[in-house]
Amino acid sequence: MKIVMLGAPGAGKGTQAERIADKYQIPHISTGDIFRANIKAGTELGKKAKSYMDQGLLVPDSLTVDLLMDRIGQADCKDGYILDGFPRTIPQAESLKKALSDKGEALDFAVNVDVPDENIVARMSGRRACPKCGATYHIAYAAPKKEGVCDKCGAELILRDDDKPETVANRLKVYHDQTQPLIDYYTKENILHTVDGTQDMEKVFADIVKILGA
Ligand code: ADP
Ligand code: ADP
Ligand code: ZN
Repeated sequence: MKIVMLGAPGAGKGTQAERIADKYQIPHISTGDIFRANIKAGTELGKKAKSYMDQGLLVPDSLTVDLLMDRIGQADCKDGYILDGFPRTIPQAESLKKALSDKGEALDFAVNVDVPDENIVARMSGRRACPKCGATYHIAYAAPKKEGVCDKCGAELILRDDDKPETVANRLKVYHDQTQPLIDYYTKENILHTVDGTQDMEKVFADIVKILGA
């Protein structure tokens, strides 16, 4: 099963992708997580990506597409995967389609987690991330057991640099300009499904499972 998650920044793509990956036993691939791991490790790619991410801009396709293609070519992806944060532009979607069709493959589902802009700033300003294991929390909606500490690994939680309100406004604009057109794109491909992402996390997950099939 090959799935892409669509939705504004903070819509809950990562939260849902993690659960889906667990239920269907497929890898959860987040390009944002890959970039953040590179930034942490101080790689050349990380240095380049950071300058865009900190401004709320997309990392150029030239740095993103090959990275994703390499990742989905790895052995653990042979039975499918869930992509979270890729594609984010029409050219990325076209590159993915071409790479898959060259192998006689295609995506199965595009799941759009729909959340209006009004809700997004509260989602992002309350998001807390674990810099060590990548787990995501929310101070009001998904609080860790002990304030400021990761349940899974005990590391201290952080507010991502790009989750500050001034950057969030930019990211929303970039989303509407460059990523939202993918909703039409995957509608035409006949694989788009939309869920109401303003519901609580359990209900959103149940709606997605209905689409993917138990
Ligand atoms: P969120 O899930 O909140 O939208 P991500 O972790 O997916 O955040 O992405 C963080 C940042 O990483 C984006 O704002 C962008 O700069 C960069 N990024 C992630 N995926 C891509 C992609 N497919 N194309 C371009 N930039 C990307
Ligand atoms: P994305 O990957 O789309 O950027 P996340 O999954 O990181 O989004 O979620 C953004 C923030 O909103 C996180 O703090 C997360 O805990 C919280 N969140 C996710 N889904 C919901 C929901 N259905 N209701 C309330 N908060 C949510
Ligand atoms: Zn952790």
